[in-house]
Amino acid sequence: MTKVRALVLERQHELKLRDINLQQTVGAGEVRIKIRTVGVCGSDVHYYTHGRIGPFVVEAPMVLGHEAAGIIAETGEGVEHLKVGDRVCMEPGIPDPNSRASRLGLYNIDPAVRFWATPPIHGVLTPYVVHPANYTFKLPDNVSFAEGAMVEPFAVGMQAAAKAKIAPGDTAVVIGAGPIGTMVAIAALAGGCARAIVADLAQPKLDIAAGFQGVVPVNIRDKNLAAEVKRLTDGWGADVVFECSGSARAWETLLDLPRPGGAVVVVGLPVAPVGLDIATASTKEVRIETVFRYAHQYERAIALMGSGRVDLKPLISATFAFEDSITAFDRAVEARPADVKLQIRLPD
Ligand SMILES: [Zn+2]
Repeated sequence: MTKVRALVLERQHELKLRDINLQQTVGAGEVRIKIRTVGVCGSDVHYYTHGRIGPFVVEAPMVLGHEAAGIIAETGEGVEHLKVGDRVCMEPGIPDPNSRASRLGLYNIDPAVRFWATPPIHGVLTPYVVHPANYTFKLPDNVSFAEGAMVEPFAVGMQAAAKAKIAPGDTAVVIGAGPIGTMVAIAALAGGCARAIVADLAQPKLDIAAGFQGVVPVNIRDKNLAAEVKRLTDGWGADVVFECSGSARAWETLLDLPRPGGAVVVVGLPVAPVGLDIATASTKEVRIETVFRYAHQYERAIALMGSGRVDLKPLISATFAFEDSITAFDRAVEARPADVKLQIRLPD
């Protein structure tokens, strides 16, 4: 253990930038990474404001942050594909490689997965972290550290788009224009959708989403989404519907949106159980898919970003210095309607 500076969530409502003992020794198959950029995620903010997410409760001081990019500072024994100086981003969840889920390729739903900044595992808002090399990915030269730190949330969008089984020319509906909803829309368009109808109540968020080619914004404050989807699809419905708002109200009319034989992909998590209109779902033979984080999506996400076909820079709203990390979190708590992603930059 080594004493290092970090952004520590002491308990609900209490953040401190202070020294803490963290594991910094590099073992076989591991790398030590100098962290350069970390994105502030809704989950980090939720632990700060609520002290818990579902069954995960903050019971001891925990370092926050899991959306990160940096530079390889040291490589452990047996690491072949990375060398000191490589620019990288990291997948924050480490499964047990021998678990039944991992052996099936479903490592994201391994019950033993250890995920940064999910109690009791420390996150990465600290100058250096040690991580398995196999969950560390090289960034192309044309992808910045700021963009590298966006790969984590974009991978969620990639997983949703993969689960949707999009066919070229599909019409998607995305409910919720927060960071995840917008990235789901971008991934769905990259995956072959001709258009993504994005619905939200907040016009500033819709304006940002509408900056991406193929996005059709719908403000559900003044328009009925089901009627609008009907109008835009000549009464047929959407091929795939992504629920990214987590709002219980969205579920009341969700099944009016997909076409017969279409799909619903659930990304947002309602806090309480919601009703499901089974009769409508069955009559249309709607396929329902769920998403928990992602598996095998980092290479694909990085390839799309490196190709220039996906540019996530417009989603970065503001960047804060590491010393101002608490200010960054308090700004995130404010939830300004024009803020998509806030990031923290560590010293060079
Ligand atoms: Zn995140």
